[in-house]
Amino acid sequence: MENKNFKNQYIQLAINFSDLVRTTLGPKGMNKLVLGKNPVMTNDGATIIKSINADDPISLMFKNLAKNQEQAVGDGTTSTTILAGQFLSQALELLNKGMHRVTIINGFNLARNAALYKLNELAIEEDKKKIVLTTFGSKIPKDFSEKLANLIEGVDTKNLKMHQLENEDPSETEIIKGFAFEGFTVNDRMPKEAEGKIAVLDLTTNMENAKMAVQTSEELVKVNQQFRKFKKDIVNKLKENQVKVLFYSDTNPELESLLTQADIMAVVTYDRVKLDSICKTTGANAIADPESDYSQFVGYGKVRYLEGKKTIIVENENSPVSTLILRGQTKELLDETHRAVDDVIGVLKNMGEGKKNKIVGAGAVEVQLSLFLKEYAKQIVGKEQAAVEKYAEALESIPLILAQNCGLDAMDILSKLKSAHVSGLITLGVDDVKGISCAKERGVLEPLKLKTHAISSATDVANLILKLDDVYKGVEEGNE
Ligand code: ADP
Ligand code: MG
Repeated sequence: MENKNFKNQYIQLAINFSDLVRTTLGPKGMNKLVLGKNPVMTNDGATIIKSINADDPISLMFKNLAKNQEQAVGDGTTSTTILAGQFLSQALELLNKGMHRVTIINGFNLARNAALYKLNELAIEEDKKKIVLTTFGSKIPKDFSEKLANLIEGVDTKNLKMHQLENEDPSETEIIKGFAFEGFTVNDRMPKEAEGKIAVLDLTTNMENAKMAVQTSEELVKVNQQFRKFKKDIVNKLKENQVKVLFYSDTNPELESLLTQADIMAVVTYDRVKLDSICKTTGANAIADPESDYSQFVGYGKVRYLEGKKTIIVENENSPVSTLILRGQTKELLDETHRAVDDVIGVLKNMGEGKKNKIVGAGAVEVQLSLFLKEYAKQIVGKEQAAVEKYAEALESIPLILAQNCGLDAMDILSKLKSAHVSGLITLGVDDVKGISCAKERGVLEPLKLKTHAISSATDVANLILKLDDVYKGVEEGNE
């Protein structure tokens, strides 16, 4: 008996962990948390899980589960975590009734396979714009989401960057061929706009390596001086190559004044990622050695400095990088839009277009799967039948929790949904206003891949935790 309690404690720990993110599921769950004390941390389940300070094996397993879902599909971490907890919660009931965990694991595997089969059958085709609008959901005003969806429709979101401009008219939000970032020219007298050859001088590697090698501050001063020695040569080489704009990663007053005299527009950034985006946009290659031949490294583009906005815009019509210049009145509004576009990029990245690779969200697909599995269970002869039924019940937790988080009478919504689905209305889901509505019509869709991955890995983790108990039991028996 002692051993059984010990096992249950482990499973209970996992259920408790999964319960932590319960209230963040769905559009309403998120909104509630955005108003909290620490908006950034509590914005979504993934962030919460990441920031939980726990290193026991169960917490680590859940952290990995979330990380894995995030990396593989970019979304769905909350659903995955909840599902794993619910599977275990159902397994616990079966264990308490005396079922062997191997039977439960076998039953769960049968259920998983059947669910994945049914998921593919339920997949539908839907266009990119609709997905974008769904992902924006209620986070962004309707006409602005329409505008953003139109803009995003035409670009490769894998190479889409974003830049925010405050105190501007949102209707002037645009996508440019190129890159924009917070920055300024190093001297006021430099040109504010230039078109032509562009050089990127990345001295951070040189400096970092050198700095790592030095031990004393005197030596560090020497390293810095070494670079300064090159300054005249640098500017001469830039002039020889007719470079109009220089992006570089060090500050040096003398170099600044030489560049100003040479009428070269110069911008400093230490950020590797930014330098990389500038290179991609302009076709330049970063020059790491100031003494090398610059001609093979230069790129081309048009650079503008928006002084009042502390913004540098680099454009090139052949740029593989595009940037969404988000305009809006306040920072808060822009941040919110930024997050929503990030979600869109994540979702699109994991979803091809045109094919049957979307499923109806808002709990609709889970109700379908649950009903299917309950029918399927009837065909199973053996103890696994009960495990498949319990697995089916666990899936119902998604619509149930969604309804709870919308402040609805969740049990009532769930039973209404189930009877509607039995009568063939298979796209009905949870609606925060109406209680129940056609989620497909509302455009609440999710990538098939997200759901497949969520169900599969939640099952794996639940089974793993059930097996973990097996190991502990074995050890104890061995000690007897
Ligand atoms: P996850 O980390 O699992 O993606 P979310 O907080 O994003 O968690 O919630 C996703 C769930 O919310 C999915 O089941 C999805 O279908 C549902 N959902 C998204 N938008 C809506 C909506 N407008 N109405 C009802 N349910 C929605
Ligand atoms: Mg989500």
